[in-house]
Amino acid sequence: MTLDKNWYTEIYPADGAAFSLKVKKKLHDVQTPYQHIEVYETEGFGTLMTIDGLVMVTDRDNFIYHEMMSHPVLFTHANPKNVLIIGGGDCGTLREVLKHPGVVQAQQVDIDEGVTRAAELHFPDLVDSNSDPRAELYFDDGIKWVADAAPGSYDIIIVDSTDPVGPAEGLFSEAFFRSCHRALRDGGLIVQQSESPLFHQKIINDMHSAMRRAGFDSTLTLNFPQCSYPSGWWSATLAGKGMAPTSFREQDAARKPFKTLYYNAAIHRAAMALPEFMLR
Ligand code: SAM
Repeated sequence: MTLDKNWYTEIYPADGAAFSLKVKKKLHDVQTPYQHIEVYETEGFGTLMTIDGLVMVTDRDNFIYHEMMSHPVLFTHANPKNVLIIGGGDCGTLREVLKHPGVVQAQQVDIDEGVTRAAELHFPDLVDSNSDPRAELYFDDGIKWVADAAPGSYDIIIVDSTDPVGPAEGLFSEAFFRSCHRALRDGGLIVQQSESPLFHQKIINDMHSAMRRAGFDSTLTLNFPQCSYPSGWWSATLAGKGMAPTSFREQDAARKPFKTLYYNAAIHRAAMALPEFMLR
C-alpha cells in the first residue's frame, strides 16, 4: 500500500510497525490469476517488486536473501546435482544455484508466470542465467509438483516462497514436507525461507516440528539481515534426510569458484549461530 504518492509503505499490523521506500514512479501493475504484482522505481533501493502489497525484491538488498537461500544448502550437501526451486519467480535464487559447477539441473516451479515476466522486464540482472542449459522453468503449483515427483528425484529442494498465506500457505505444512522428504535422495536437503526471527518465532517453531514429523532427521535455522523484509532480520530453515545440516563443506565454501557479495564460509558459520531466545 502507499501512504501518499511519494512513498510505498508495507505495514506489519501484528507488530504495529511499517517499512517505507520513497518511490519515483510505478513501472508495472498486473493482477494475475494468483497475485497482484507491482514494480516501482525507488529513490534509494533501485527497482522494487511487490506481490499483494508485500516487498519481494529490491535491487539494493536482494543479493543477501538470494545468496543465503542457495549457497549454505549447496555447500552443506556432499555433491549437489539436481536442484528444485519452488517459488523463486524473480529468478535470483536460480542465478545463485547455477553458479555451482556441479549442479547439472535446476528446475524452478513458480505458480505465477506473471512474476517471472515482470522480472524479465524490470530485473535483468536476476534473470541473466535463465538461458543456462541446466535451467528449466515451469509455472505450476509447487505443492502438486512435489507430490507428483518420483521418489529420490532431487538432491536439494529450495522453497523460495511468499509468506504462509494464499497460494504459499500449503508450502509450510507437514504434508508438503512429507512430499519433499520422499522426492529427495538420501543425503538430500530442503531449505525454506522461514520469515523473521523477531516477528515470526511461531512460524519458525512450527516449521521445525512439521519438518521433523515429516521424517527429516534434523533441522537448522540460519539467520541473516534483510533490510526490506519485516523487522530487517530474516531466516532460512534447513532440514536433512539422513544427514545433519549442522556441518558444511567449509574448505569448498572458502575456495568457492564464483563471486558473491554477502556469502562466504565465515558468514555461513555465523548464520548458524542463534540468539538465546531462538535456542530456547
Ligand atoms: N523473497 C520473497 C519472500 O521471501 O517473501 C519471495 C520471492 S518469490 C517472488 C515468492 C514466489 O512464491 C512468488 O513468485 C509466488 O508466485 C511463489 N509461490 C507462492 N505460492 C506458490 C506455490 N504454491 N507454488 C509455487 N510458487 C508459489
